[in-house]
Amino acid sequence: MAFQTIGDLDLAGKRAFVRVDFNVPLDKETGKIITSDTRIRAALPTIRLALEKGAALVLASHLGRPKGKPAAKMSLAPVAARLSELLAKPVKQAPDCVGPEVRSLADAMRPGDVLLLENLRFHAGEEANDPQFAAQLAALADVYVNDAFGAAHRAHASTAGMAGHFAARAAGLLMRKELKYLSMALREPRRPYLAIVGGAKISGKIDVLESFLKLADRVLIGGAMAYTFLKAQGIGIGSSLVEEEKLALAADLLDRAGGKLALPSDHVAARECSAGSPTQIVAGAVPDGWLGLDIGPTTAAAYEEAIRQAGMIVWNGPMGVFELPPFAAGTLRVARAVEAASDHAVTIVGGGDSEKAVQTAGVGKKITHISTGGGASLDFLSGRTLPGVAALGEPSTIA
Ligand code: AMP
Repeated sequence: MAFQTIGDLDLAGKRAFVRVDFNVPLDKETGKIITSDTRIRAALPTIRLALEKGAALVLASHLGRPKGKPAAKMSLAPVAARLSELLAKPVKQAPDCVGPEVRSLADAMRPGDVLLLENLRFHAGEEANDPQFAAQLAALADVYVNDAFGAAHRAHASTAGMAGHFAARAAGLLMRKELKYLSMALREPRRPYLAIVGGAKISGKIDVLESFLKLADRVLIGGAMAYTFLKAQGIGIGSSLVEEEKLALAADLLDRAGGKLALPSDHVAARECSAGSPTQIVAGAVPDGWLGLDIGPTTAAAYEEAIRQAGMIVWNGPMGVFELPPFAAGTLRVARAVEAASDHAVTIVGGGDSEKAVQTAGVGKKITHISTGGGASLDFLSGRTLPGVAALGEPSTIA
């Protein structure tokens, strides 16, 4: 990889700006209770290493979509409290992420101090990658570390713009781990290489499907996107979700897939998408007046077999409406099969829904890598350069 990692940096007595991904889910009512601290925990190895190396840490993240204005329900204050518990040391919450008050807080820091800036997206300059905003952030520290893989597909001030201000810049440990496994899936996959793609729509996943058709030995399709492919083949899909405007594209992908692409052969169908609706298992076409909401048992068994035989598996997106128990079986069977295959295969799971499914299935310990970045991992696997990774490369002229 053409960049340094945090282990390469001399941090003794330095102030390190660490871009983390603390975009945690908060309860909707108060915005004060963190419902999953996975992302905070994922940043701990980098934070601990930086502290061990003698740095003072200025941590920064976005949270939610406040659209360039302060919003009390998207404050990072609950994160500061949780991080303080996890580190067993004080974490100071800054009132903002830029401005004179924040600057003096940063200037007063001593080695071992941890300051968490307020939500970067309270300022429009963050998402606009505004050079002045980037310069203000950069003025807070001596070195720059990016550990926010989940935001690396965005060219924002904190992920891209500010990096050029630092001669010393590096990837954090989480960023390094994400790139290590995803690079393997892109460049040196073990074979047979199996991709499993599900979720609601083809539209968000066209590029990654194209990429998998080139890289993988087989691509298993599940979720609502399967119905656009099935309809393109002239198979009846009843009232299942379909992207009419993507039918031609689906037909073209199938044409070029040369048999690599596997579609569900049976379905859990229901009258409507609700937990109380009558259901039936249907093979082949979904009858009129019914919706396909999960892969059926024959498909699930075939997918399990393909998973058992794979040397490398990349999974993104649920096989059905797994949030509702009557339509969760297919996704949970895939989650368990991927866990079991991890004894012999390299397994990578990406995207929030697949991660949730892994948790619901009570598995995950053996999975090689559960990515913290859904969008970033899809972009990376599509072969795109992530701006947050590119910014860690050769020093630019701004430095
Ligand atoms: P995505 O964000 O594209 O990965 O889509 C995830 C969503 O797709 C989940 O909320 C699932 O409930 C939904 N989904 C999966 N399969 C189906 C289906 N057969 N019909 C409708 N929605 C589905």
